[in-house]
Amino acid sequence: MFHRIQLKNRAKISDIYSHRNMLHTEDELYKIIDNRLKNGFKFGSIEEALQNKNIFHLSFDDGYFEHLEVAQKLKLKYNLSYFDVSFAINIRNSFFNEKISMDLIYAMFDNHLIKEKEIPNLKKELFSKSKNDILNYFKKYQKLLKKIYLENNEVVELSKLFSIVSHGINHLFLNSDINHNSENLKYEILDSKLFLEEKLKIKINTFCFPDGKNSPEIQEMCKKSGYKNALAINGTDDIFDISRIIERA
Ligand SMILES: [Zn+2]
Repeated sequence: MFHRIQLKNRAKISDIYSHRNMLHTEDELYKIIDNRLKNGFKFGSIEEALQNKNIFHLSFDDGYFEHLEVAQKLKLKYNLSYFDVSFAINIRNSFFNEKISMDLIYAMFDNHLIKEKEIPNLKKELFSKSKNDILNYFKKYQKLLKKIYLENNEVVELSKLFSIVSHGINHLFLNSDINHNSENLKYEILDSKLFLEEKLKIKINTFCFPDGKNSPEIQEMCKKSGYKNALAINGTDDIFDISRIIERA
């Protein structure tokens, strides 16, 4: 799994992303792929990768704005098909004005409002709260966030190149006390699917748990909502709890 990609000849991405293990350079991304191909791996869909140890699938989380260019470059360089790569999109960050994300905390750090060592606690405390509490907290910091996510029409463009995965609406920790109820899970899991399907005119088959956080109830809501599988981080490799790794070249 990948988050931010530092493309060549593009503005430098804040160091905080590499400190948080969320950044690969473009060359590193190609090296990872080239090593896999050299070792006999082939690209394939999520389902194929689960069934066959020699097939790998790339996934990119959180809809960062550089992902469209990454997708265009990957398509061209490796002649990939639609289901070889997926991009997880948070509805709020690509389609709504007020954002909820780790990136706001990183922007606070970049603007010297918090110290780096405060980040993990703030993250833990904040993302277990309700959507409204988080929005209230972030209200005065929204302006710190420069263009960082794919916008509406860019997600549409991306969806023509590779598959799109729902990453929920608000990127909350779905297993926290306040968020772990059927009304909220339905909103984050089912409604995000319907939203993307309506916007992009495609079928959304995969849910990606924000921060990998999930539970039997969360997995059940994914099944009930019509997803075929779900991406975790440290999963069990059940099709609704798929493990992913952050590979390094
Ligand atoms: Zn995420």
